[in-house]
Amino acid sequence: MIKSAREVVGDEVELMVDAGGSDAFWQHGYKWAINTAKMLAEYDVTWFEEPLRPDDIEGYKRLTEHAPLPIAGCEVLTRRQAFVPWIEQHAVDYIQPDVTKVGGISEEHRIADWADDHSILFVPHGWNTAEGLAADLQLVAAARNARWVEYLAPSCYIDDLLLNPIRLSGDGELQIPDGPGLGMRWNPDGIARYTGGMRLTTCTTGM
Ligand SMILES: [Mg+2]
Repeated sequence: MIKSAREVVGDEVELMVDAGGSDAFWQHGYKWAINTAKMLAEYDVTWFEEPLRPDDIEGYKRLTEHAPLPIAGCEVLTRRQAFVPWIEQHAVDYIQPDVTKVGGISEEHRIADWADDHSILFVPHGWNTAEGLAADLQLVAAARNARWVEYLAPSCYIDDLLLNPIRLSGDGELQIPDGPGLGMRWNPDGIARYTGGMRLTTCTTGM
């Protein structure tokens, strides 16, 4: 599969491999992970994501030290404090907090900053909604140690919920919205379609 993917995209395109959530197909043991990492490096894979069980910090430390390509992980962790040992012990090369799980934008920015102080790159995992991806784009723009976001494409929850959908350009880049807030403009019809007919209402304030 990796050989075919590399042949199809050529040498200039970055390929990443994510083994997360695929336990039914791979044994997530250390020896499988290190042997697979060596194979992936032969095809110039950019990173190997979640090759071990997500809480196996000792396994990740060993793998990150010995694997010939960068190791990514931590998308399932919640709370900023859970990331501290992973960062301070350099258990991964790329850390992937999910803004919808870690306590919000300020908390994720602090995780990214702490990772930068420890020479770990930041690849956010807002992933499967337009709101998560919009937040990730702002976080990446504000981080010195980031250049990618992990997200799902195509996805109706990303593509259909905004009037200004976030789309890849021809050269594989995402435009960072520059409107107020996260730059999103909700699509009322898209929201109604996936919520059983809910309609957006005008926000009013009062005491
Ligand atoms: Mg992933």
